[in-house]
Amino acid sequence: MDATSITDTFHRPLRDLRISVTDRCNFRCVYCMPREIFGRDFAFMPRDQLLTFEEITRLAAIAVAHGVAKIRLTGGEPLLRKDFEELVWMLAGLRTPDGRAPDLAMTTNGSVLAQKAQLLKDAGLARVTVSLDSIREETFAAMNDVGYPVAKVLHAIAAAQAAGLGPVKINMVVKRGSNDADIVAMAGHFRGTGCILRFIEYMDVGASNGWKLDEVVPSAEVLARIGAVYPLEPVEPNYNGETSERWRYSDGGGEIGVISSVTQAFCRGCTRARLSADGKLFTCLFATVGTDLRALLRGGASDTELSAALSALWGGRADRYSELRGANTPGSSGAAAARRIEMSYIGG
Ligand code: SAM
Ligand code: SF4
Ligand code: SF4
Repeated sequence: MDATSITDTFHRPLRDLRISVTDRCNFRCVYCMPREIFGRDFAFMPRDQLLTFEEITRLAAIAVAHGVAKIRLTGGEPLLRKDFEELVWMLAGLRTPDGRAPDLAMTTNGSVLAQKAQLLKDAGLARVTVSLDSIREETFAAMNDVGYPVAKVLHAIAAAQAAGLGPVKINMVVKRGSNDADIVAMAGHFRGTGCILRFIEYMDVGASNGWKLDEVVPSAEVLARIGAVYPLEPVEPNYNGETSERWRYSDGGGEIGVISSVTQAFCRGCTRARLSADGKLFTCLFATVGTDLRALLRGGASDTELSAALSALWGGRADRYSELRGANTPGSSGAAAARRIEMSYIGG
C-alpha cells in the first residue's frame, strides 16, 4: 500500500494505535466499570458488531502504512476475546514502510494471562502491562469489586516474565481514600523484580465513575511519598512524547513511572489513536464521537478509501482535552462529561 506519515493540526504524527477488542470485562473496577452501571442489565456490544480479526488487521495495516509503529491491544479485558492469540499472530505479521514489525503490546487485568502467556509470546506479542491497584488483599478486592485475589495477578505477572513478555509494566491507578495508603507498599513489593511499576493519576474518563478532582493523587505526591522511603532520581525519557515520566531508585532497585494525565497534561506529544471494538476510531481518550470505520469496511470501501478516511481524520485532529481540562473543567460534571465515552469501550 502506498501511504505516508500523517500529522494533525498541531503537527503531531500518528504513531500509536490502541485497539480495544472487547467492551466486556470480568472485573468491575470502581474507577472504570462501576457495578451500579455495568450490572446484569448492561447492554454490551452484540458479537456481530465487533470487528472481526480480519477487519482489525486490515485497519491496523492501513494505520501502520501511515506511520503507526506501536500497537497496544486492550479493552475491556482483551483476553476475554475468544482466540485472541490469533489476532496477535495476524498483527505481528504487519510491516512498517521501512520493513519493521510494529511494537505489539497488551494491557490486561491478568486474570487469564498465566495460561496464555507463552501462547501470546509465540504468536508475536512483545510485552504486557498488567493492572494491579494494590498489594493488599482487602484494598485490591474493593478496587476490582469482584473479590479477585492479589496472588493470582502476581502469578500471572510471573508467568509473563517467564514467557519473555517483559519487562512487565504494572499499572496502579491511584484513587485517594481507596488505595493511596498502599503506594509505598506497592513500590516496596516490585523493587528489584524487574517489573516497572507505574502510578496513574485517576482520570475523569467516561461518565460513570463519579470522578472528583480531590480523589486524584498528584504524581508529585506519589513521588514524594516513595522518595521519603526509597530515594529516587529522574531518568531521561525513552522518546519524545512518552506518557510515563521515568524515575529510578538511587540504590539500583529498578525503575518506576508516573503518568500525570491530570496534573501535567501531555497532549502536546500525544500521537495516539484508539479503535473501539465496534470499529469507531477516536483521536482522543476524551472524544465524544468516533468515526465509524466499520461502516466503511462493511460497505465495501477499498484500502485507498480507508486510507483517505484515516488521513482526513488525523489531518483534522485538534484534540488536547487534558490541557484544556485545567482551564475549563474544575469538576467533571455537565453535558460534556455526560457524553464522554467509557474507558472500557474506547480502550484504556
Ligand atoms: N482490562 C485491562 C486492564 O485493566 O488492564 C485493559 C483495559 S483498562 C481500561 C486499561 C487501563 O486503564 C488499566 O490499567 C486501568 O487501570 C486504566 N484505567 C481505567 N479507568 C481509569 C481511570 N478512570 N483513570 C485512570 N486509569 C484508568
Ligand atoms: Fe476491567 Fe480493566 Fe476496566 Fe478494571 S480497568 S474494569 S480490569 S477494563
Ligand atoms: Fe491525547 Fe486526548 Fe489524552 Fe490529550 S487528552 S493526551 S489529546 S488522548
